[in-house]
Amino acid sequence: MDNYFTGSKSNIVHLMDNPYFELVRHDVTHPYFVEVDEIYNLACPASPVHYQYNPIKTIKTSVMGAINMLGLAKRIKAKILQASTSEVYGDPLIHPQPESYWGNVNPIGIRSCYDEGKRCAESLFLNYHRQNDVNIKIIRIFNTYGPRMHPNDGRVVSNFIVQALQNQPITIFGDGTQTRSFQYVDDLLEGMTRMMDTNDEFIGPVNIGNPNEFSMLELANEILSITGSSSNIIHHPLPEDDPTQRQPDINLAKEKLNNWEPEVQLRQGLEKTIQYFDQLLKSR
Ligand code: UDP
Repeated sequence: MDNYFTGSKSNIVHLMDNPYFELVRHDVTHPYFVEVDEIYNLACPASPVHYQYNPIKTIKTSVMGAINMLGLAKRIKAKILQASTSEVYGDPLIHPQPESYWGNVNPIGIRSCYDEGKRCAESLFLNYHRQNDVNIKIIRIFNTYGPRMHPNDGRVVSNFIVQALQNQPITIFGDGTQTRSFQYVDDLLEGMTRMMDTNDEFIGPVNIGNPNEFSMLELANEILSITGSSSNIIHHPLPEDDPTQRQPDINLAKEKLNNWEPEVQLRQGLEKTIQYFDQLLKSR
């Protein structure tokens, strides 16, 4: 199910001929009725550029979307997994971040439409579980990248790659010393499906991310070295409330999800993603 606010049909066109694949165009802020066994609720734009474009809609997507999908799960007795986020930790004062950390979120800042929406969704999931015995799972996804991202996604990995491939300036926000820990999409999918399949007692939340941490300067240099680009680096102002550091503590995931840990490290994941964007840009 997708409303295509950030998604694209071209990403799934290869699945359309499969008679066991069904696609519904629908917005999760409106109720939806269907018979299924499992629900993965990934609805909500995740790029700051996109989620800040219409912040009220972003909150509605996380909060009303969660209420609609939890209501559905309750009625049809489906298992439901929530894609939560490392943003629930805000600008973290504890490093790396374990699930037990309550976070440091600005409730009225420009990121709060996403952060607080996702935090409210976690609360809704736990309350439907406690009050109505809904079978829930919560994962907290850290920065993820990979092929099929939109070239105008606005997040750092796709921005730097598209800029490097076009020999345009690499836009670093602030001085570039802020850090993130980047996870390749295949590792996320493995963690997410293992979480759905694990025993019902373990509901999370559990961090799913790659603990290898890089500064934005390091990321830019890695992408420049792989692409052999002649791009230079320019600096833009740091956006408000931009977290200074972020790294998942993944001990819980390892313990509960059958020794899950990321297998694709940054250089290898970047190479695959660069290859994708290179072909995409050439085809245009
Ligand atoms: N960033 C950057 N240049 C860009 C886009 C992002 O330097 O063109 C920085 C941004 O300020 C942040 C980090 O990269 O510190 C990660 O940003 P992103 O939007 O990918 O995700 P976030 O983790 O902030 O939600």
